[in-house]
Amino acid sequence: KGERLRLPPWLKTEIPIGKNYNKLKNTLRDLNLHTVCEEARCPNIGECWGGGEHGTATATIMLMGDTCTRGCRFCSVKTARHPSPLDPDEPYNTAKAIAAWGLDYVVLTSVDRDDIADGGAQHFAKTVSNLKERNSRIMVECLTPDFRGDLAAVEKIAQSGLDVYAHNVETVRELQRQVRDPRANFDQSLNVLRHAKAVKPDILTKTSIMLGLGETDQQIYNTLTELREAGVDCVTLGQYMQPTKRHLKVEEYVTPEMFGHWEKVGKEMGFVYTASGPLVRSSYKAGEFFLKNLLE
Ligand code: SF4
Ligand code: SF4
Repeated sequence: KGERLRLPPWLKTEIPIGKNYNKLKNTLRDLNLHTVCEEARCPNIGECWGGGEHGTATATIMLMGDTCTRGCRFCSVKTARHPSPLDPDEPYNTAKAIAAWGLDYVVLTSVDRDDIADGGAQHFAKTVSNLKERNSRIMVECLTPDFRGDLAAVEKIAQSGLDVYAHNVETVRELQRQVRDPRANFDQSLNVLRHAKAVKPDILTKTSIMLGLGETDQQIYNTLTELREAGVDCVTLGQYMQPTKRHLKVEEYVTPEMFGHWEKVGKEMGFVYTASGPLVRSSYKAGEFFLKNLLE
């Protein structure tokens, strides 16, 4: 303890770049879209944008600005009590830009806006409906805040026409307080996922857990069990990486073998898909997984 762990070799490997990557990269510039892929310098960008073997290009777009009202201890997004007001044209303009960009699968996500009455739910929902009107073939996932447990906000998004409702529990039940903003908690997040499924049973629900924060294997197992019992369809597990020295330290670099083990456990528990690996992020190749698991 006290010292930073050395980066293991499996996190230093080069990631292949798929064939659509350059096309998307070149057309993005004029569209005024804020991708998490670029802004977070995600290592998977070549694979996600490139599309992999099914050629399904995935990207994650950030709505509602770059400043969050919360301060989770693993996250490097800027924080303020009163970020800039929402841009009322964003749902229209973003939908138009995404439809023009040539993606197969888009993840719409946002900062938490506890300063806005509905947390931005209407804004999310409008973006989805505008996008689906323009391009009904594009698969849409929303990765949403917890809306402080406001289930009407969750329902608005679940009914907006999306395909996948995602909300991240981020870590095992026992580490919620150390890792997430105090306004977040495990049961509130579980309720978000449960409610989305209850009001729209034909959508998929999805969540994500970071490993390497000091959780035990038993805690991971129990968390997966609780998620499955809540009807969550898809789960991703990835390595936590410390964004700056001021953020939570990495307690452990979980081996690829152990990630493989959790993928197997997830499958046995009956998740529709489980993506588990050191570099897996909540949106990692989501389109590829969607196609592979649902259309084969
Ligand atoms: Fe980051 Fe989301 Fe936490 Fe805001 S709520 S600090 S964007 S993880
Ligand atoms: Fe973008 Fe998510 Fe893929 Fe990273 S994992 S490149 S953020 S879609």
